[in-house]
Amino acid sequence: MSLSTAAQSLTWTYVDGDWHEGNVALVGPRSHAMWLGSSVFDGARWFENVSPDLDLHCERVNRSATALGLGPSKSAEEIVGLTLDGLKKFDGRTAVYIRPMYWAEHGGYMGVPADPDSTRFCLCLYESPMIASSGFSVTVSPFRRPTIETMPTNAKAGCLYPNNGRAILEAKGRGFDNALVLDMLGNVAETGSSNIFMVKDGVAFTPVANGTFLSGITRARTISLLAEGGIKTVEKALTVRDFMDADEIFSTGNHSKVVPVTRIEDRHLQAGPVAKKARELYWDFAHSG
Ligand code: PMP
Repeated sequence: MSLSTAAQSLTWTYVDGDWHEGNVALVGPRSHAMWLGSSVFDGARWFENVSPDLDLHCERVNRSATALGLGPSKSAEEIVGLTLDGLKKFDGRTAVYIRPMYWAEHGGYMGVPADPDSTRFCLCLYESPMIASSGFSVTVSPFRRPTIETMPTNAKAGCLYPNNGRAILEAKGRGFDNALVLDMLGNVAETGSSNIFMVKDGVAFTPVANGTFLSGITRARTISLLAEGGIKTVEKALTVRDFMDADEIFSTGNHSKVVPVTRIEDRHLQAGPVAKKARELYWDFAHSG
């Protein structure tokens, strides 16, 4: 495999006090993160001259680091400042993905947990156009979200994502774009890459945050924007049957914001009015600050 970065979009990474262009090499075979998966990240967006909730994403990466036993070294304000600095390196038109990360270089006690004193930080920015909101299909995954007893679900940690990856791949193998992933009790948790909402009789519903899945920043923002727009969101345990009977389904996440689900199993749905309204409200909010 080539180390060339030619296939990757324009990328700038801040590490150890400097910006570097491209997919700068940062870990080695002795790095704890490469060996035992001690990395956390967050994802925010710059598009159309705005970076909605960037501060919240920067705060969360620090909470994730602490939850994984790492030692976060930058304040959220510093990460925001670095991001604004780094964004100047881009063309001011193409949307950018904003990914602060922490990882451990060394193991701590017995080598297995991370040594928090060896924590490193980088901030990776790269061009990543926003996707159209045309919608996507979901099936129910045979894989489940782990509980806090079995995985560090209180961190946005890289080690959680092979499970999401296999859920998405398994769904793709059966002709779907993504999957509804259930928690260990059998309630719907989220998709492989985003939070999930449904609408019934004009009321929005979303799985209640129960510690098994990422209770997203875009999810919380959407709930409050819908409330201001006169649409109530009920947070409760939801089953596959609830979703099969829904009038609308849509997902939220920092990457693509609000996107409708247009097929669940063999049932086709409209890209409905509440999803459309939530997306419009999000864009209004993004441009308001
Ligand atoms: N769940 C998963 C598995 C995700 O990867 C994401 C995207 N970060 C989300 C939910 C949505 O979270 P947020 O709105 O905070 O980006």
